[in-house]
Amino acid sequence: MRIFDLRSDTVTHPTEEMRIAMANAEVGDDVFEEDPTINKLEAMAAERFGKEAAVYVASGTMANLASGLAHCQRGDEAIIGAESHIFQNEAGSLSALGGVHIRTVPNDNLGMMDPDEIEAAIRPDNIHQPRTALISLENTQNRCSGAVLDSVYTEQVASIAHSHDIALHIDGARIFNAAVALSVSVSDLVRTADTVSFCLSKGLSCPVGSLVCGTRDTINLVRRNRKLLGGGMRQAGIIAAAGIVALETMVDRLSEDHESARILAKGLASIPSLVINPEMIQTNIVIFDVKTGPIPELLSALKIKGVLASYTGGRGVRMVTHYGITPEDIEEILNIVEAVA
Ligand SMILES: *Cc1c(COP(=O)(O)O)cnc(C)c1O
Repeated sequence: MRIFDLRSDTVTHPTEEMRIAMANAEVGDDVFEEDPTINKLEAMAAERFGKEAAVYVASGTMANLASGLAHCQRGDEAIIGAESHIFQNEAGSLSALGGVHIRTVPNDNLGMMDPDEIEAAIRPDNIHQPRTALISLENTQNRCSGAVLDSVYTEQVASIAHSHDIALHIDGARIFNAAVALSVSVSDLVRTADTVSFCLSKGLSCPVGSLVCGTRDTINLVRRNRKLLGGGMRQAGIIAAAGIVALETMVDRLSEDHESARILAKGLASIPSLVINPEMIQTNIVIFDVKTGPIPELLSALKIKGVLASYTGGRGVRMVTHYGITPEDIEEILNIVEAVA
């Protein structure tokens, strides 16, 4: 039986071209900054994002944490979305390891925090209160059905941050999905950000790795924080080689995942027991509500028929499209869901 694993785009496997590049990668000791493959990947990423420098790290969580630690001192406050991955899904790392106080602002269903609410959350200069040091955006917004933030909104938030001398970080785990959906370059989306992180191991299909891009000084700090967190790697060009192939070959095809997600969302909308507005699906994450019945049982019934999806809490189920799932597969997936739901 064919298994359609829609739990996440993290389930994607490296392509044949990646495996060949990995096998043949030139390597060195990256803690000494002597791994030519990592150096090349970092230079490619910095150029692509329009930043001075970049650093390769083990995961998106480490990228966000090492960036947050570069911007915040212990006791400082970070303003982040209530639905953000940093707040919801990173084990409280910025608080646990950085002593950073987290202030959440609600995300609307398009993933946006109201700029007025962001500004209102910034602390005055008052010894009773923490100092606001960081505002973080997420693009695409994972828990808001992969919603896209455009550069106009991002620049609006950046100007609020910078007028208060606060850094702006973008958790861009899936920022290439945003850029492809908007038909802009990633550098357009992050021009005003102080740091941006992105994942190679999601829709870009690499086995491991994320990068952080920013000014040379900030990236030096992030590199130091990577070491602090135990993330210094040695001949990791072996894994970074896949990242080079990803940036060269796996970005433009993300539009296929978005097309599959649109077809999936439309099909789900026609199933009476499910609730979804297909117009809301901008990238590769499809979240829908199930009107009645226990969700774990529905997920088990789907699994028996070969469709893996995940539970998002409440009445929500999430399906993510990715490399290896074709529009034809979506027809089959919809038949299975219709039979079970
Ligand atoms: C996956 C993800 C991360 C973290 O990536 P890991 O590599 O799993 O640590 C961060 N932010 C967002 C929005 C993500 O989807």
